[in-house]
Amino acid sequence: MTKKLFRLHNPFHNIRSLYDGFDSPICALDCGEKCAVHNPSGKPFCCDICQAVPAVYQDEWKYLKTETGLWRAWQGNECSDDTQAGAEKLLSETPDNMLLLACLGPQHCERPFRSLSCRQFPFFPYVTADYRFVGMAYDWEFEQTCWVISNLGNVTEEYRRQFIEVHDQVFAYSQEIFESYQAHSERAREQFAMRRRRIPLLHRNGGYYLISPGSERMQKVEAERLIKFGPYRG
Ligand code: SF4
Ligand code: SF4
Repeated sequence: MTKKLFRLHNPFHNIRSLYDGFDSPICALDCGEKCAVHNPSGKPFCCDICQAVPAVYQDEWKYLKTETGLWRAWQGNECSDDTQAGAEKLLSETPDNMLLLACLGPQHCERPFRSLSCRQFPFFPYVTADYRFVGMAYDWEFEQTCWVISNLGNVTEEYRRQFIEVHDQVFAYSQEIFESYQAHSERAREQFAMRRRRIPLLHRNGGYYLISPGSERMQKVEAERLIKFGPYRG
């Protein structure tokens, strides 16, 4: 038998297909309408460059800059309270294979050209200390602002399915990206331990769990029992 080369599919060679496989709205209603009313700028928090700066993979940027005028390189001087120190901190936190961009804003959004970071916000793939990608956790820094974080039961099954599938593809290809999320999950465990709270998880099996940040013991819960924050309480 002739030996054949086994090549692992690189999902970043076809960004269009990666985006098309991760296009489901996060929930049935427009969550931007729920949060924008609490932002003085009137924009959804994740679409306001003064609240969240999108990081994109270098391969995404190669694709986006040829297909749309929606994006440009982030300058770090877009907002009145921007500082040199703040910009340097954000840049130091940006992985080598990513760069920071700014878009034209929600009035000019082109849904087909949203970055992976737009599509996954406010979630990140949660990787356990023993290297298992078990589901979606949220970015704790947006607890007070993002409506979805206070309404995790509204996240659709289809969105969760696509999130898991696209990250399975990416992790099968890139150990580097997998390890960056393993490190981010470790930071989540530290942050939740400091707050003496468990980490809410949308498990890949479809259930909702609370993870103890020290032992990583998981307890299944009803979505309605999860904490709400800030203006979304009550
Ligand atoms: S994901 Fe969160 S921050 Fe972004 S539009 Fe929806 S509720 Fe607002
Ligand atoms: S591209 Fe669209 S979804 Fe992404 S940050 Fe800009 S306005 Fe929001």
